[in-house]
Amino acid sequence: MMPRFMLFGEGNAKEQAFCEQSWRVGDRADDLLCCMYGRNHYLERNPRTVRVGGVDEAISVGRARGVDTIVMLAIEQFEAGHVEVLQSAGFRVFGVSASATFLENSKVRAKAFMKRHGVASAPSVPFGDAAEAERFLVKNWAHRRFVVKASCYLSDIKFSCTVPDTLEEAIEAVRRLSGHLAEMGAPGDMVLEERVEGREFSVHVLVDGADYRVLPMIRDYKQLLEGNKGPNTAGIGSIAVATDWDRDLMADLQSRVIQPTIDGLLREGIEYKFILYIGVMMTHDGPIALEYNVRPGTPEFPTLLALAKTSGLEMVEAIQDGKLGSLDLEWEDDEPCSVAVTLTTSGYPLSTDGLGEPIFGLEELDDDVWPLAEHMPAEPVPIASNGRVLTLVARGKSFQEARDRVYRNVDRIRFRGRYCRRDIGDLVALE
Ligand code: AMP
Repeated sequence: MMPRFMLFGEGNAKEQAFCEQSWRVGDRADDLLCCMYGRNHYLERNPRTVRVGGVDEAISVGRARGVDTIVMLAIEQFEAGHVEVLQSAGFRVFGVSASATFLENSKVRAKAFMKRHGVASAPSVPFGDAAEAERFLVKNWAHRRFVVKASCYLSDIKFSCTVPDTLEEAIEAVRRLSGHLAEMGAPGDMVLEERVEGREFSVHVLVDGADYRVLPMIRDYKQLLEGNKGPNTAGIGSIAVATDWDRDLMADLQSRVIQPTIDGLLREGIEYKFILYIGVMMTHDGPIALEYNVRPGTPEFPTLLALAKTSGLEMVEAIQDGKLGSLDLEWEDDEPCSVAVTLTTSGYPLSTDGLGEPIFGLEELDDDVWPLAEHMPAEPVPIASNGRVLTLVARGKSFQEARDRVYRNVDRIRFRGRYCRRDIGDLVALE
């Protein structure tokens, strides 16, 4: 087998989704190799996967197998400079260069970018230290409420963004964040952003410079508890539909958020040929951008891939070859709805409780449900190695059918302390 493409990553759920969907769809399975430096129960058992120690070994594998394009989907790799390293080794790379990662890993710079280019977003103020931020909160809380965000990318979600209800909670959030940043040796920059209300969506955009294609919007569930309560998580459920878009809403989103973002990137000479994932809030005044992510999201992206008849590989190829405009994006018309539910450890996202628990029941899942493992080793037994343990995704003719399929399988997976929300897809609000 001489694959043209190689995914290089740690083996997380979205990387597994990308590989498995590309292997399954479109008769191109032999064109993609998976090269991973972490653990994943499903990928490890697949003969198209090679395990490596790091980027140097990935280069050797890529050369030995005749790969020309390497695909990466994780911001940690972009921050580590893997794009540049692999480019210098002679590969074409599908990723984001270190110069564009500020869109996600510097909220201060990303918000300034939005302001410069008229991207609709909530007003915000950057702060270099906690005391200043606290003074601002005390002075302004009576009239406005604020969300507390770390400027830099933090993989520990319990610190990265807090949505406080009271001034006391806001001050506490600033202090906790500042303490965590100091502990991490990270700069103390943070952003206080006006709190907005509305329905939240995720939108993934395939970007090739000035050309772009907007993928179906996704409703994701960020909060831990049913009814959208409790602490924020990195995402523990999502739903998507491939048809029945609201055209007015899309037009609004495009003119207020997406187009000005693309124009801004071009104007600033930032070459972006990748997937841009924008967190969006539908407010009374129209859609606004909450944040940019320079990589696809979990479980959002798998929820989309489950609906796509076009493989992720073809999407990558279209962008790489400058043919995005002619890419024929096809979706599952018979089963246009998908639902993803993530099973977590007992402690997620607040503590490490429940990590290390053995997982049972993986063999009992129905064929129409797609299990995606998050850093889960296969040997000697699958164990929970990440707060988000396993995501189950299913398609259906309706959300009801997709949810029934997912939840029928959820209880077959057993590990001590297992948790999931039971209301994913209940609030069907994609209109
Ligand atoms: P972010 O880190 O910007 O993605 O924010 C994480 C989550 O916090 C979002 O998915 C929202 O649920 C919430 N959030 C972020 N910004 C705001 C805001 N300005 N107003 C209300 N909620 C927000």
